[in-house]
Amino acid sequence: MPDFSLDCALAGKGMSTVKGNDILPNYKVSDLSKIDDKALNVSEIRGQLGAYVKGNKVDNISIATGSIIVNGKTEYVLAVSGKSWKGNAPTSVNINGVNYKVIVEDSQSIRNYPSSATQTNLNHAEHKLMSYAKDNYAGQKVDIKVSVENTSKIKPSMCNGCNGSGVKFAEEMGKMPIYICIKEQQEKGHD
Ligand SMILES: [Zn+2]
Repeated sequence: MPDFSLDCALAGKGMSTVKGNDILPNYKVSDLSKIDDKALNVSEIRGQLGAYVKGNKVDNISIATGSIIVNGKTEYVLAVSGKSWKGNAPTSVNINGVNYKVIVEDSQSIRNYPSSATQTNLNHAEHKLMSYAKDNYAGQKVDIKVSVENTSKIKPSMCNGCNGSGVKFAEEMGKMPIYICIKEQQEKGHD
């Protein structure tokens, strides 16, 4: 069994609104508020991406950050949705003393799924990170954590497409632990 050291793997609150749990033993999804690695705090990172995204518009994009731990070494990765990353912006950035590799392109090595009636999750921030991780770390002993924040007021969590890709990702990474924290969907009466 993978060792999920974060308490969010077992957090009761919000689990009913989060898809993906318990489908595969190595795949866990929980809400963003439980993530304990500051380097994965997407809300904080968002405000510091102005110089790198088109039109300095950081408020309308989805952001995903990830930690990939192999042999005790951690690689931090970062992606924004769509084509928001400026063409001339660096693909390695330092934010609050942490170096992130920016995944600009979606290699599509993880299958895409519909996110709506007319679109797929191609180029979604978390899909870029999942595809990158598969391309570079499949078959290795690896521990992957991803946190995701979109800006939807109606559905601030992973879309259906990325939920499907997340399961596929965990499956294709073998038995390696995949842990995803997302901004929890708002519920009535929820603070
Ligand atoms: Zn998505």
